[in-house]
Amino acid sequence: MGTPKKGINTICTHEGEIHDEQFKGAISPLYMSTSYAFEDVEVKRYPRYFNTPNQVALSQKIAALEHAEAAMVFGSGMAAISTALLAFLKAGDHVVLQKTLYGGTYNFVNEEFSKYGIEYSFTDGLEPQDFETKIKGNTKVIFVETPSNPLLTITDLKAISNMAKKHGLVSMIDNTFASPVNQNPIDFGIDIIIHSATKYMGGHSDICAGAVASTQENMERIFQLAKNLGGSLSDYTVWLLERSIKTMGIRVKAQNTNAQHMAEYLAAHSDINKVYYPGLPDHPGHELAKTQMSGFGGMLSFELDQAYDASQFQKALKLIKPSMSLAGVESTVLSPTQTSHALIGPEERKNQGIADGLIRFSVGIEEPEDLIFDIEQALKEIKKGNKAGLFKEQLTK
Ligand SMILES: *Cc1c(COP(=O)(O)O)cnc(C)c1O
Repeated sequence: MGTPKKGINTICTHEGEIHDEQFKGAISPLYMSTSYAFEDVEVKRYPRYFNTPNQVALSQKIAALEHAEAAMVFGSGMAAISTALLAFLKAGDHVVLQKTLYGGTYNFVNEEFSKYGIEYSFTDGLEPQDFETKIKGNTKVIFVETPSNPLLTITDLKAISNMAKKHGLVSMIDNTFASPVNQNPIDFGIDIIIHSATKYMGGHSDICAGAVASTQENMERIFQLAKNLGGSLSDYTVWLLERSIKTMGIRVKAQNTNAQHMAEYLAAHSDINKVYYPGLPDHPGHELAKTQMSGFGGMLSFELDQAYDASQFQKALKLIKPSMSLAGVESTVLSPTQTSHALIGPEERKNQGIADGLIRFSVGIEEPEDLIFDIEQALKEIKKGNKAGLFKEQLTK
């Protein structure tokens, strides 16, 4: 009888763990050593070689979570993204990137690539043909992000991987928003999986880290550059991240359930114009999401009615925190117009469908009733005319 395939929570809890032979402790011991004797190790262990005991343990867990042969842990999501991209691109090469990308990735490409003679194109849309029309003779990499920020658009993973194979390209995905709990792109033929582990893997808004998972061969190539760029993570944080991932399965599933609940509540609300959540049947990516995601995730966005001001709304919330980051156990909101998408200007925001009243909502693990209560009290507090002591109903009467 072969070993049965382990379930997600078993992988989260145990995979890769270091057995404490000396004291028989229940968890992986933390090895902070930056120096290891040559004698009884066949490899030279060193933090910047990504091979300390704790780095190796966590990498095994992440590889298992992403159905990959190997993985590496980085000092941030951007260290993971920049190292992965540069490992497969050199001067004269070209990369096709999805138009809706995490702002940091967009900035990295726009601000750095021309210095290295790397050419790039962003797609005009998100359909597979939008990617294919940008492919040129010197294209080497295709880079996607799904679900994307902030409108939770869904990109077709199978179509992208088929296209990459047809044109001999390396396909990469930023899988941060889905987390390995909800989406395993390797199963659809995507080559390289990248995470900002600062988000769902960490899950408590107290760790900054990144990860890459792929084949042994691809990871070897990424390692060769990574050891030169030096974006490794401190072993202490590696150890904390191992601890965090133990509960990732149950956290993310609770967040999926809460986000679905909140999306349905918001969609039925007369003061909310639109809700963007792949778990809603009227979301344009719903059917596709069902085929490539095992859960719809904890992120959603909604548009407040004209009568409400987005910044007033955020200030009026008492439980849900206005915050830049996402994916923690605590619910947070932000206004893309004022933060992540402030620099692209009103024209481009309109072009991307980002309204001024749009609120991005990272749903935590609180009871949905408490989240609903908070939103209701905030809406009541700020109804237009509030400044004059009048609520909307009074104004329209
Ligand atoms: C946060 C984030 C990143 C960058 O990760 P850092 O850990 O902040 O470097 C990349 N992609 C997505 C989708 C993110 O949300």
